[in-house]
Amino acid sequence: MVLARTFGCARFAYNHMLQFRTDAWYQRQERIGYHETSAALTALKKTPEYAWLNEVSSVPVQQALRHLQTAFANFFAKRAKYPNFRCKDGMQSAEYTTSAFKWDGKALTLAKMREPLAIRWSRTIPKGCKVTTCIVSKDAAGRYHVSMLCKDVVCPKSEVDAKVGVDLGLTHFAILSTGEKIGAPNAFRKSEKKLAKLQRRLAKKQKGSANRNKAKLKVARMHAKIVDARRDFLHKLSTRLINENQVIVIESLAVKNMQKNSRLAKSISDASWSEFLRQLKYKAQWYGRTLVRIDRWYPSSKLCSDCGHTAAKMPLSVRSWTCPECGSIHDRDINAARNVLAAGLAVSAHGESVNPMSL
Ligand SMILES: [Zn+2]
Repeated sequence: MVLARTFGCARFAYNHMLQFRTDAWYQRQERIGYHETSAALTALKKTPEYAWLNEVSSVPVQQALRHLQTAFANFFAKRAKYPNFRCKDGMQSAEYTTSAFKWDGKALTLAKMREPLAIRWSRTIPKGCKVTTCIVSKDAAGRYHVSMLCKDVVCPKSEVDAKVGVDLGLTHFAILSTGEKIGAPNAFRKSEKKLAKLQRRLAKKQKGSANRNKAKLKVARMHAKIVDARRDFLHKLSTRLINENQVIVIESLAVKNMQKNSRLAKSISDASWSEFLRQLKYKAQWYGRTLVRIDRWYPSSKLCSDCGHTAAKMPLSVRSWTCPECGSIHDRDINAARNVLAAGLAVSAHGESVNPMSL
């Protein structure tokens, strides 16, 4: 298969030139740059021994040298460790720049390939958007991915009236001030149990055995499945909230502090709050929505959203309560989400802290 060969050639170029640069430094204290490695590659391709490098598109192979250059630049700037050799079992990738692929808005054909790739798209590429780079990769679970970088102009969506308060919770992933409760993705917990079982099985297999490799692939596949499902859940929800609301108010949580508490940690990692906040932040910026952050010390659970009475205590175990002042019966989380919304609107009216949060 052309892709497998391309991955192989790109990996070879990367590793070969890494060795070349390392040797030059240790043997002659000579620093080899991108241009020298590029010239060396051209020379290599002319020798009969390495003629096979010509069988694949030259672009991904050349890009591998650029990546190596970046890895060295990061090393010299003390941003990263010394570059590592790329191994056959890890993530494989090939990067194609404009001259090395054809994209007609529907089908993607890579250089040295006759047929377009059969792709199951995870999202649509906006019409008329100029794709500048395609990266084809294969992960440890043996799945192929294509990512396309494009120059895309994001237009703000037309304004809507709705505003929403969001309370991130443990029993539910999110509770909205509208009264809607969005379930914690419990499916993940089941999959995680399966994953743990597969990992235990893997640990028992003998090193280097065929069965171990099989078990390893199973673990990688399960893991990939969980990551995908979680990402999908978070994207769907963040997109929906941004589409439906002009203002989204959310309580900023001390995610890191809470994760120290092991009892809560599992649910929190399941729920991926910080990833959710990250998505809301950039989507709000893209589409011209306002994301308001409420201080985490704000007593959103203890405050009656009807009359403003503040309860003295509100342990986590209390799921619903009756306000002693006005008699309203509150669902703990919906009440909190309503307070979050009210506080967010008050804050944004005063022009404070309306910047998207930095989490
Ligand atoms: Zn009340």
